[in-house]
Amino acid sequence: MVELPGTTIVPGFIDAHVHLTGTGAHRQAPEVADSRSARQMLDALRAILEKRSGPVLVHGWDETRWDARQVPDVCDLDTLTDRPLAAVRIDGHLSLANTAALRESKVLGVEGVERDEDGRPTGKVTRGANQRLQHWFQRHLADCDIEQLQLEAASLAVAHGVTCVHEMSMPAERGLRDPEILRKHRARLPLDVITYLATTDIAQVMDLGLTRVGGDLPIDGSIGARTAWVSEPYEQGEGSGTGYFEDGELAQLFRNGHLAGLQVGVHAIGDAAIDQVVRVWERVYRALDSRGRRHFRARRHRIEHFEMAGDDLIERAAALGLAVSVQPTFDAEWGHPGGLYEIGLGWDRAWSMNPFRSLLERGVEMGAGSDSPVTTIDPMAGITAFEWHHQPSQRLSRVEAIRAYTLGSARLAHLEEKKGTLAPGMHADFAAYDTDPIEASSLKGVLPVLTVSLGREVFAA
Ligand SMILES: [Zn+2]
Repeated sequence: MVELPGTTIVPGFIDAHVHLTGTGAHRQAPEVADSRSARQMLDALRAILEKRSGPVLVHGWDETRWDARQVPDVCDLDTLTDRPLAAVRIDGHLSLANTAALRESKVLGVEGVERDEDGRPTGKVTRGANQRLQHWFQRHLADCDIEQLQLEAASLAVAHGVTCVHEMSMPAERGLRDPEILRKHRARLPLDVITYLATTDIAQVMDLGLTRVGGDLPIDGSIGARTAWVSEPYEQGEGSGTGYFEDGELAQLFRNGHLAGLQVGVHAIGDAAIDQVVRVWERVYRALDSRGRRHFRARRHRIEHFEMAGDDLIERAAALGLAVSVQPTFDAEWGHPGGLYEIGLGWDRAWSMNPFRSLLERGVEMGAGSDSPVTTIDPMAGITAFEWHHQPSQRLSRVEAIRAYTLGSARLAHLEEKKGTLAPGMHADFAAYDTDPIEASSLKGVLPVLTVSLGREVFAA
């Protein structure tokens, strides 16, 4: 029995899209994200290099927050050190690397290494080369370091009232060791973890005992890295991005995943990428026999992000019963006038992005998350972002926003009979607040006084 006079108790928040190890790593060097110019970032990197030995990988810069958006190049990074050094952009889809990192990680022949007119690497790395580069750095971490990073991220989450996360494991960037370590110490973490593995290898996820495949498996990249696959080119002659899969390859993953009884998830941000995912699901659905179709909607196959979707795509996704995992803080960070989306896509396209209310009104299953470390794991920031969407007609009410972060995210992982509401028989997952998060005029800095996950007191103010 716990006495909590005067507090408001809400179901524990469920963050439907988290990278735990990345969150821990990001917190080791917050000064990278706090930099407001290339100069500041280089100064921050210099200080970090003095403190750490061996290869150094940091995460979190966002040049759209800088007055001058020119990012450091390979020469700037080479003057700092001859040890391998890489700085990953906030969205994870673009890295800046020095010559030692490019050479030692053996990415120079891989797709995604940008080169200047003379064929020399500029230091910018995207796509397959970016994944391999990050993977190479991960190998220099000991198992106990990774365990510690995951634990720190989990502790941060429960301090914000989050009692469960959908962990988006990225084997292309962190190897299989990362989810394996997580699985081993999962029971000791202060919150519940539902793992999605970004792979097309169905046998592999079944061997690991998972009932889900894909998760954050990238179909395209990000708007910030100009790798999100869009139907019309970016504003400044930066191409249109490309899809990472052929239709046939995707159809195979979707069909085999579905027939194996798994939930299938993919990452899609640009309108061309979302269109491809929906189109391929339509094709797979049509080819199923009546038995295969019977439980199709109930499987809630997921699309992560789903940012550039107009009414037609929403309608087609709804017709298939696809579920959408949204990140409202993306809109708060980048969706407003003058923000990253307008810079990259122009205002007309930026205006119609992240159509949260349209999704809800069409009855699409919708859960919410942070994509931490891309944005803060604090659900209050996400709820506020839902309430203050850049387009007033897409805003959610406080209660709708809280529901997306609790029941909505529970439903995305088929956990609505265990999590997401407070009722007899449900998991004891909840957070108690001195300030009522349903009534408070501002949620800024609102933190729980107590967080309980699976009946365990995991955070107390
Ligand atoms: Zn993603």
